Amino acid sequence: MARSGILLATMVVIASLANSEPASAAADPDGLQRFRDIYKELIETNTTLSVGDCTLAAKRMAARLKAAGYPDEDLRVFVPEGYPREGGLLAVLHGSDATAKAILMLAHVDVVEAKREDWTRDPFTLIEEDGYFYARGASDMKAQAAIWVDNMIRYREQGYQPKRTIKLALTCGEETNGALNGAEWLTRNARADIDAEFALTEGVDGELDAQGKRVALGILAAEKTSQNYVFEVTNPGGHSSRPVPDNAIYHLVRAVDRVSRYEFPVQLADANRSYFSGMAPLVGGEKGAAMVTVVKDSKNGAAVAVLDQDPNWHAMLRTTCVATMLSAGHATNALPQRARANINCRIFPGVSREEIMAQLVRIADDPAVTVSIPEVRGPVAAPAPLTPRILGPIEKVARQMWLGVPVVPMLEPGASDAQFLNPAGIPTYGITGLFTDADGGHIHGLNERIRIKSVYEGRSFLFQLVKLYADQ
Ligand SMILES: [Zn+2]
Repeated sequence: MARSGILLATMVVIASLANSEPASAAADPDGLQRFRDIYKELIETNTTLSVGDCTLAAKRMAARLKAAGYPDEDLRVFVPEGYPREGGLLAVLHGSDATAKAILMLAHVDVVEAKREDWTRDPFTLIEEDGYFYARGASDMKAQAAIWVDNMIRYREQGYQPKRTIKLALTCGEETNGALNGAEWLTRNARADIDAEFALTEGVDGELDAQGKRVALGILAAEKTSQNYVFEVTNPGGHSSRPVPDNAIYHLVRAVDRVSRYEFPVQLADANRSYFSGMAPLVGGEKGAAMVTVVKDSKNGAAVAVLDQDPNWHAMLRTTCVATMLSAGHATNALPQRARANINCRIFPGVSREEIMAQLVRIADDPAVTVSIPEVRGPVAAPAPLTPRILGPIEKVARQMWLGVPVVPMLEPGASDAQFLNPAGIPTYGITGLFTDADGGHIHGLNERIRIKSVYEGRSFLFQLVKLYADQ
């Protein structure tokens, strides 16, 4: 495996930062090769909902923990009844203080579907190219899942006994609305096993600029709610040789087109205010000035238009709704009897699903189009508060590793398993220590990738951070 000189130099720095680790194997100082193997094994275990197997991934990670010395009673592969391929793993490293509450490292191991024919490289093979790892899940979120497993192995190997118990949960079903969600299942069926003062999971990454320079380390302050709505039109249909204006497809596409042209109003909350305030001096120029203006006056159209050029910023400012799937018609020579579109909305914190539904009915503006909610994914959760106890260790490790890079709370346009753990009474924080490119690393899209250096640095960051929390 070829690595650049810059990367090797960085690895030396990482090794010296984590200098409490013994050089157990001279050939693999810091266990980096073993970590890469764990990451590779997770990625090369297909965990898509269609043909993948999360249970297999869980079993493979359990085998690694067992080989590292974890007894059977501290490992549990759980398989929800009726979902043989959608299982997960629970593991425990016992703390010394029985009265201190545990901390939970949570990761989903399922991934978004990926078609080989669409990708440049095989999505289920870990490929290193030009300083990047390419694969489905390389970023979302098998890097962090592998880091959690690696943490558990290294802590045990070092004979590290934390004050608080450290728990690991690997789950399935995060990426597909409507699938059985492993984190939610655990809150209902194994609440005691995942009980913790707080949990850490994905959410917000560090941000790199186009030159790969670190801009800021994001942490999740609040996240949007993902909600699907279905637009549907039904019609008696008929023979396509005698078309009439009242056509199910035409009704539907006009309504969908109106969604494409509608922009939800800008909303400000602590999370996006703190983000734009924190980023304004870093970004500078016209964009930085626009951030300052929008925080003061969300109705300043010119400043909003500047920020809207960036899809991330656009999404952070408001609820968004977008057409994601279409199906219509039953024969090439028949007038369509049914036309249906899925509209995926990312709802701004504090706004209800029902409010957005009512707004979509107004936007569709056609009584022939019915709007419905196909499934609801748990309650809308209030975000966990970013207290000094949470922020302090993040800032400390970030200062050691990335001096001068600010820690910025963010509103996350996506949604994570925090939406299930927060209402279950386990405050959940999105912090990865992984720096990703300005394009987001193509997560959920084609050719998902993450810088190799980012993964190794994130590993070092999370290794130290969890230790600091566990000794609090
Ligand atoms: Zn994810």
